[in-house]
Amino acid sequence: VKRVFAYKLKPTKPQEAALVGYLDATRHLYNAALEHRIAVYKATGRGPTAVEQQREIKDIRRLDGWEWLADLSFNPLKEAVIQLDKSYAAFFRRVRRGEKPGFPRFKSARRWSSFTFATYGDGIKLDGEARRLYLKGVGRVRIRLHRDLEGQPRVTTICRKADGWYAHITCDLGPAPELRTGPCTAIDVGLESFATFADGSKIANPRHGRRGHIGVTTAQRTVSRRRRGSTRRRKAVNGLARERQREARRRRDFHHKTARVLVDQFATIAVEDLQTANLVRRGGAYKRGLNRSIHDAGWRQFVDILSSKAEEAGCQVVKVDPRRTSQACSGCGSIVMKALSVRTHDCPDCGLVLDRDHNAALNIYQRAWAGSVVEAA
Ligand SMILES: [Zn+2]
Repeated sequence: VKRVFAYKLKPTKPQEAALVGYLDATRHLYNAALEHRIAVYKATGRGPTAVEQQREIKDIRRLDGWEWLADLSFNPLKEAVIQLDKSYAAFFRRVRRGEKPGFPRFKSARRWSSFTFATYGDGIKLDGEARRLYLKGVGRVRIRLHRDLEGQPRVTTICRKADGWYAHITCDLGPAPELRTGPCTAIDVGLESFATFADGSKIANPRHGRRGHIGVTTAQRTVSRRRRGSTRRRKAVNGLARERQREARRRRDFHHKTARVLVDQFATIAVEDLQTANLVRRGGAYKRGLNRSIHDAGWRQFVDILSSKAEEAGCQVVKVDPRRTSQACSGCGSIVMKALSVRTHDCPDCGLVLDRDHNAALNIYQRAWAGSVVEAA
C-alpha cells in the first residue's frame, strides 16, 4: 500500500533560487535528451535508450564548465531522462492502439513545474525533529509538517504551485490488510447529486461557496478586464491560478472526507467503470458535453481516492459495466428509455416507480453480485 504525503516548503530566497535551478536543469536535460533522441534516430534508425542517456549525463558532469550540474543531485537529473522515456513509451502505445497521439514535445518553462527524487536518501532527506527537508545543492529547507510521515519514504516530487513550493513524498505502508467482511453498497454518480446509494440515500453536490474568497469566475473576469502585458494583468492571472488551486483543494478535501466515511461503513462498494463508460460513449451517439467531462474528471479522482483508502482498510471497490444502468429496470430488467431530464424511473412492465439515480444504484449493486464485474480493485 502506498500513500502520498504533501507538505508545504518554506524556502529562503537563496534556497528558492536553487530550487528554480533544479527546475531549469531538469527541463534542459529533458529537452536535450529529446533532441538527442531525434538526432540519433534520424542518423541510425534507432534511438538511444534511457540507460545510455543517463550514462552520458554522468560523463557531462565530469567536464569543465559543467560543475553546476555536478553540484546537483544526480537523482532528479536521471529522472528527467526516465520521464522522457515514459512519454515515448506512452506515445508508441497510443500509436499501436491506432490513435493519433502528439509526439513528445519540448518543454517550455511554463510547462515544467516539478522534479523528482526517485530514491529516498540519495540527495534528499527529511529531518522531522528540526522540520527541515535536506536537498543536495539547496540546503535544509523549512517544511510545514502538519502531519507525521508514515511508513517507508520512497519517491519525492518537488513542485512549484501558484502559492509556493510543495514536497510530495510517496511512502510504502507495507502489505495490504486482509479483506474485511461486512455491509455492501453501490454508488451511482449523477450531475444533480454527487452520489446516490443502493438504499436510496444521497450525498448532495458540495457547494463551493465564496466564503472569504472571490472565486474563479470573478478572478477570470478580473483577468479579462486587464490590459494584455500589463503588470496588473499578470497579478490577476496569479490570483486566478490561486483561486483555481483553492477550488481544486476544496473538491479534493470533500472527496477524501466522503471516501473516509464510506470505507469506514462498508466492506464492499460497487461503482461504474468509467473507462468502459467512455468507450461506450465514444462508439455511440452520446453527446459529450463539457459539463460531463468535468464531471467525469471529478468522479475519476474520487474513485482513485476511494480505492486507495479501501486498499488500506481491507475494503473492496468493485467496478461494473456501466451500460444502461439508468435505463434498465432494477425490478424486472426491462429497458425503459428516458431522457436525462426525466428524474423518475417508471416501469410499465412491473410497475416499479423509483428515483432515477436510486434505480441506477440498484442496477450497479445487482451487477456487482451477478458477476459482470470489470475490475475488482
Ligand atoms: Zn420493471
